Amino acid sequence: MKSIAIDGPAGAGKSTIARLVAERLNFIYVDSGALYRTVALAVKQKGILVVPVQLQQIFSEIQIEMCYIDGLQHMFLDGVDVSDRIRSSEISQLTSQIAQLKVVREYLFSCQQKMAQEHDVVMDGRDIGTEILPNANVKIFLTATAQERAQRRYKQLLESKTIKTLEEVLQEVKQRDENDYNRAVSPLRQAEDAILVDTSDMTLEESVDFILDVISKKLA
Ligand code: C5P
Repeated sequence: MKSIAIDGPAGAGKSTIARLVAERLNFIYVDSGALYRTVALAVKQKGILVVPVQLQQIFSEIQIEMCYIDGLQHMFLDGVDVSDRIRSSEISQLTSQIAQLKVVREYLFSCQQKMAQEHDVVMDGRDIGTEILPNANVKIFLTATAQERAQRRYKQLLESKTIKTLEEVLQEVKQRDENDYNRAVSPLRQAEDAILVDTSDMTLEESVDFILDVISKKLA
């Protein structure tokens, strides 16, 4: 099986780029962030505290499934499709809190590895190249300036009719970066053998073409 790991901070364009790259390669796109987001939604719905003991407890009570419908990844929590609900700003912030806990990362570890054992994958996240798939065939670290990433996220939120100012979105992006880069367990960092791609001045098409070019050279 072949695997492409794409890591990077929030709003760098990972999910859109990874999905298009996977489509062009005929690989499965695995959005690992959606797994963490679904755990965060479960935490919110159950109204529990973000502490290891309570989280350990809900893992035995909830069922999280990842399914592919018309080629798109959907997340199910206790049999309900929550793919849209996990995208709110509130869940984004809660996700970066629960993702700091070892108990959560351990719970989701094997599910991500299993996907890569069974399929050719493009998997995006924060620790794919460093922890989940250290032997990935190609590793990309995708980034862009915080301002540019906030702009992109702001546009997405406008489309989903969420009312936020650009400044609020920028603060949220910075807070998530702070949490993701500085946590003790599996912090966001570029793997030594990852290729750094800064998309600040690239269009979506340029980013996809650039990454496909890197991949084809690496896989050749
Ligand atoms: O990729 P996305 O922005 O949907 O991820 C939401 C949050 O999930 C991130 O801010 C990060 O805290 C966490 N995450 C993680 N490790 C991953 C994927 C996501 O810690 N592999």
